[in-house]
Amino acid sequence: MSINFSEEAENEVITSALNLSEDKGEGSLRPQTINEYIGQQKAKDNLYVFINAAKMRGESLDHVLLHGPPGLGKTTLAAVIANEMGVNMRITSGPAIEKPGDLVAMLTNLNEGDILFVDEIHRLNRAYEEILYPAMEDYAIDIILGKGPSANSIHLDLPHFTLIGATTRSGQLTAPLRDRFGVTLRLELYSDEELKQIVERSAKILDVEIEPEGALEIASRSRGTPRIANRLLRRVRDFAQVRSNGVITREVADKALLSLEVDKLGLDALDRRMLRSIIEFYNGGPVGLETLAATINEEAVTLEDVYEPYLLQRGFLTRTPRGRCVTRKAYEHLGIEYMGQQQMDI
Ligand code: ADP
Repeated sequence: MSINFSEEAENEVITSALNLSEDKGEGSLRPQTINEYIGQQKAKDNLYVFINAAKMRGESLDHVLLHGPPGLGKTTLAAVIANEMGVNMRITSGPAIEKPGDLVAMLTNLNEGDILFVDEIHRLNRAYEEILYPAMEDYAIDIILGKGPSANSIHLDLPHFTLIGATTRSGQLTAPLRDRFGVTLRLELYSDEELKQIVERSAKILDVEIEPEGALEIASRSRGTPRIANRLLRRVRDFAQVRSNGVITREVADKALLSLEVDKLGLDALDRRMLRSIIEFYNGGPVGLETLAATINEEAVTLEDVYEPYLLQRGFLTRTPRGRCVTRKAYEHLGIEYMGQQQMDI
């Protein structure tokens, strides 16, 4: 099986769930099999059935849509599926497909049973989506050559392939595209216990000595996201090597994370700025996402896709029809006196 991962740098915030330049070594930490893939039990149970059914029938797997916040293991899961099916996987992404020819070339280069992984599929140009419809449904594409009356249409049969689409925002997918996926799996934020197992597994691969309490400390401050857990592990390892005897204990992890400005619950400077702004400028909310984004000089999509899921899950933030509100818990966490906001505390 051959898989090539392309990793790109985005804004370098240590607890960002996005892929940063320092995550380049991430590939070695990726689980290869469904048993090594920790957590996401519901998704795994479903996949197990689909994979085995497809194998028993000797067919390719139905098209799969994976959705959930960045860093939760969508790319990893796609690679695990390829591995379990014993097929090759080609990787591309919505924004990387710049012209219809790019997509046609990808599709015509596939072999029987192969997986085509399209990351950020919601960003695929709508006009090119139409190429995917017959490709997904009938394993065929029609290419039009030339223009005007002399134009010719060529019908090309494709191998039976599986499209795996990954998206952080399934709501932005058009209905015709969404409907063509036979399987839709939603990935959830990981529990502290699951992240602890991921940290311990990664530590073993990186040959770092870690105590269970040290692993739990990193896990509980990783915003429910394996990518962040692995990144924090690497940073804490540096601290352990330089400041103590190389072993990651709870104390070493705590000190290291505090100096990286990751607080006890895994909130970073931007989370705190976001919550604080709602309190200070909007009296706890509600405030519209766009207004909030402008106030703290961030992009609304980043707040919505990367920051909010964890703040919502931890109960620091609520979403109401009139905008975002902070909860009493957020006041307490930030050490700001709670004056009994009128609109919150659901
Ligand atoms: P996404 O595609 O959702 O942004 P990735 O698949 O790139 O996320 O995962 C980021 C990193 O997190 C991977 O390199 C992998 O090492 C780790 N990871 C993700 N999910 C798991 C898991 N279930 N078990 C162990 N490690 C995981």
